[in-house]
Amino acid sequence: MTPIDCLIIGSGPAGYTAAIYASRANLSPVLYEGQQPGGQLTITTEVENFPGYPDGITGPKLMEDLRKQAMRFGADIRTGYVSDVDFSTRPFKLTIDNSTEIFANSVIIATGASAKYLGIDSEEKYRGLGVSACATCDGFFYRERTVAVVGGGDTACEEALYLSSIAKKVYLIVRKDHLRASKVMQQRVAENEKISILFNTNTESLFGEEFVEGAHLVEFKGTPEERRFDLPIDGFFLAIGHKPNTDVFAKYIELDDAGYIKQKGITTETNIPGVFAAGDVADPYYRQAISAAGMGCRAAIDVERFLSAARSNAKSI
Ligand code: NDP
Repeated sequence: MTPIDCLIIGSGPAGYTAAIYASRANLSPVLYEGQQPGGQLTITTEVENFPGYPDGITGPKLMEDLRKQAMRFGADIRTGYVSDVDFSTRPFKLTIDNSTEIFANSVIIATGASAKYLGIDSEEKYRGLGVSACATCDGFFYRERTVAVVGGGDTACEEALYLSSIAKKVYLIVRKDHLRASKVMQQRVAENEKISILFNTNTESLFGEEFVEGAHLVEFKGTPEERRFDLPIDGFFLAIGHKPNTDVFAKYIELDDAGYIKQKGITTETNIPGVFAAGDVADPYYRQAISAAGMGCRAAIDVERFLSAARSNAKSI
């Protein structure tokens, strides 16, 4: 079977932008969309900071447009997720949906990151019934209601501030005695009358008939001052960080302590020549649609250079 020249894994802004650039460079890219076609932006509402859209655009429409743009130049967009990889052979061997084997001369990993959950049983039970990891997607349902946001970082503050413009009351549940968020975000939260911070507090479980009606919380857990109490809430929002989707690559690709893909210098190259990474999967810092798209562009250019160098080396041998 002829190997694919440029295989792109993932269909967020990074993956689609890589596909646009790679197809315009005649690399005949094949893109696998993964388990959440369109990525995280498909679960957001309005995107107001993507350049080129002065009136804003919805996340799903933006992704649909990027997809169409990639297809216009001939990108081969396929349904399926990469369930296994072997980067020790050349061409690289990848397995799709645990069944089909494909081969590729170069790979761009653009699998993004997923919101983290606490790991308590009731999160699963009430997912979509009061539990969410995206305030901008689901905040709308909590008009004049009471919600809680878990986390003490910038995301948690941002989500709490966003929800305060919709909900009647917002609790921020923070496990430490301080916020990790930047000073400016901390200040905005402190100045917002609708937001109350519950420091030193952990969530044990959620309760409610069909939908979330409250949380069983514990303050000063494991200390003599430990105190359990119930907080009546209608919505429970997780904002405790993201986990990069790198598990399937971990055997071969160097990751940092948090699981993000490490890159070489200013390039998108990983520790394996011919394997590149773009977007949130390699970016714990910026995590923006536009910065992911920029990395997708850079990865496609890196692939083009890698393939042409490999071919001219082969010719000169
Ligand atoms: P962070 O990793 O910065 O913060 C995660 C927060 O969740 C921390 O307060 C952490 O607590 C808490 N947490 C983690 N696990 C648990 C748990 N099991 N139970 C309870 N609490 C938990 O993630 P963010 O998503 O907030 O931010 C990621 C990056 O993106 C940061 O660099 C941030 O600055 C940036 N960002 C910037 C924004 C902006 O500038 N507008 C907006 C959003 C993000 P603890 O402190 O105890 O570890």
